[in-house]
Amino acid sequence: MKYAAISIKDLHVSYYGNEAIKGVSLSVNPGNLVGIIGPNGAGKSTFLKALLNLIPKDKGDVMVLGKSINEVRKKIAYVPQRNDIDWDFPITVLDAVLLGTYPNLKLFRRPKKKDKLWAMECLERVGMEEFSKRQIGELSGGQQQRVFLARALAQNAEVFFLDEPFVGVDVSSEETIVKILKELCWQGKTVIVVHHDLSKANDYFNQLILLNKELIGFGAVSEVFQTDIIERAYKSQFAFMNEMGV
Ligand code: ADP
Repeated sequence: MKYAAISIKDLHVSYYGNEAIKGVSLSVNPGNLVGIIGPNGAGKSTFLKALLNLIPKDKGDVMVLGKSINEVRKKIAYVPQRNDIDWDFPITVLDAVLLGTYPNLKLFRRPKKKDKLWAMECLERVGMEEFSKRQIGELSGGQQQRVFLARALAQNAEVFFLDEPFVGVDVSSEETIVKILKELCWQGKTVIVVHHDLSKANDYFNQLILLNKELIGFGAVSEVFQTDIIERAYKSQFAFMNEMGV
């Protein structure tokens, strides 16, 4: 039987009694590149973190590849927002990528030559092989994001989750990242990307999840990218802009 890559039923999440996600249900098939779009504070990061069991849910079932998150953790790669990462942590680029192979390494086993070669291959794919000995804190935003994508690639995951991968990233890094994400989908992998900016949504993704606490729209980009649906998601922001005379 073929399972959905991700299936979510009636997800509710709150912080100190304030609901951030209200009753979201949807299902994504493998091979899709899905953008999670919505205004600031819409709950996009919360949604991703709750899916991955990184924060508690009030209610709801999440299945990835037909199993619970904990059963398929090795098949899931997560690239957090850059400002959620401690860039002062003393670790080289190569070691950061090798960490991606840890789900496949036995605990406490030193990485072997084979693991290092694989990590270098992943760095090459994102165009960062020359930086393997650098400390991660010495890299630019775009380079850091590419290294974290290499780390996710090293994991050989089936489902990839990225939180705002294009924030603070140069144009060429953004292009490299988008190209790799598209390739992953062509290989049948599933990629879910939180992205606050509407402008590129059309080019980057083939499906959209439009979120503003509730699920406002979900489906093919052409179905969701309609003025009335977008306005519904962004209406609080539009109202604010009107009030401010913007
Ligand atoms: P987005 O990613 O769409 O910008 P978030 O998921 O970061 O939105 O936030 C959704 C809502 O939840 C916002 O109102 C935010 O202030 C609140 N929130 C997010 N994280 C926390 C937290 N750790 N504690 C309390 N409230 C939070």
